[in-house]
Amino acid sequence: MSHIFPRNSRARLPVIDHGDGVYLVDTTGKRYLDGSGGAAVSCLGHSDAAVTAAIRAQLDRVAFAHTGFFTSDPAERLADALIAHAPEGLDRVYLVSGGSEAVEAALKLARQYALETGQPARHRVIARRQSYHGNTLGALATGGNMWRREPFAPLMIETTHIAPCYAYRGQDPGESAAAYGHRVANELEAEILRLGPETVLAFVAEPVVGATLGAVPAVEGYFHRIRDICDTYGVLLILDEVMCGMGRTGTLFACTQDGIAPDILTIAKGLGAGYQPVGAMLCTAAIHDAIAEGSGFFQHGHTYMGHPAAAAAALAVLGRLTDDGLVARARTMGARLRTALEDAFGQHPHIGDIRGRGLFLGLELVADRETKQPFDPARKLHARLKAAAFEAGLICYPMGGTIDGRQGDHVLLAPPFILEDTHIDEIVTKLGTAL
Ligand code: PMP
Repeated sequence: MSHIFPRNSRARLPVIDHGDGVYLVDTTGKRYLDGSGGAAVSCLGHSDAAVTAAIRAQLDRVAFAHTGFFTSDPAERLADALIAHAPEGLDRVYLVSGGSEAVEAALKLARQYALETGQPARHRVIARRQSYHGNTLGALATGGNMWRREPFAPLMIETTHIAPCYAYRGQDPGESAAAYGHRVANELEAEILRLGPETVLAFVAEPVVGATLGAVPAVEGYFHRIRDICDTYGVLLILDEVMCGMGRTGTLFACTQDGIAPDILTIAKGLGAGYQPVGAMLCTAAIHDAIAEGSGFFQHGHTYMGHPAAAAAALAVLGRLTDDGLVARARTMGARLRTALEDAFGQHPHIGDIRGRGLFLGLELVADRETKQPFDPARKLHARLKAAAFEAGLICYPMGGTIDGRQGDHVLLAPPFILEDTHIDEIVTKLGTAL
């Protein structure tokens, strides 16, 4: 009996033995193609020599020195490298240990900015239904995933949710993508006016919605309109790229493809690529300086922030992604995987939509392609698909509740960027078997 909870007490999980490129191998020798990088984490696969060597070298020097006393060369170089690649205007970095921590830091930074700039009434957060921003209390309050929120209601941050930009189900017949994007973005303006603009702190969104919707990018123009609305009402735009960032969508930062930059941006998962727990929040100098010139101190912190070995890992990952061309590879291999999925499942009676960007792709399962009718949630299709794929030796990331937290099923694919054409064939064949 395992004493680790919650999962191991309920299910007998295989025991992991080692990683081998895009494969994970359990102690019985069974090989699993990691078609989802865990949960869009393992962008470099499981045996990247450069990253392991960088961590080892740092461990040989020093593993940990508290940021209250020291900075470190890897942490400083990581911050410089992130800023060099970041969208225009993001030029301050705050290092943390994961996605939820990055989102918490973003929320508290926004709140403290409002206080330091004489806007104490700004405390409300607007996010989108069917979003996930993490599991700590602030991040949970922000996310729009109802079944995760409800057990903990009332949550401590006042958050309301507008519709996501989800063209497959939101766009009206005959409506252009541009008109749809504009219409759904305008929900933000209506919500700001309803709440009172002087009370609204921030709008939080994933550029490409990952776990909860299955790799749904916004239509062109949506985020331009969102940026305009935020600017008009003095609302901070926080983009959560914890899942879709770090090259996953074919550009290092996903929002680049939407043609906008946020005031605050969060990254994690792919930053450590699974080799170390690490995350970061980036913000504009204006936000940072308002605090620096005010109280002079950002009221936040964690013991492991700026951890030297984690920073060394992230710096090596960033090098692999940019200098070694792996972001570009995510773009080209993503296009090939998408074509292969469309060829294999484009006419499948129970695949309603194939979407995403780069190596961040989603398939939505439907009972009826014509009416887009979802399967009965009681059938737990996503869980059965996950189990069937796993049995066949494919790790993918299916989820239920796609439409409204209760109905709908999708599967997310987010394989390592190092995958080869043979792996694409294997993903398609095994997913087909599971389906
Ligand atoms: N934001 C997004 C968009 C995520 O996908 C996740 C994790 N799935 C988080 C935040 C939370 O990250 P973590 O699990 O590392 O705390």
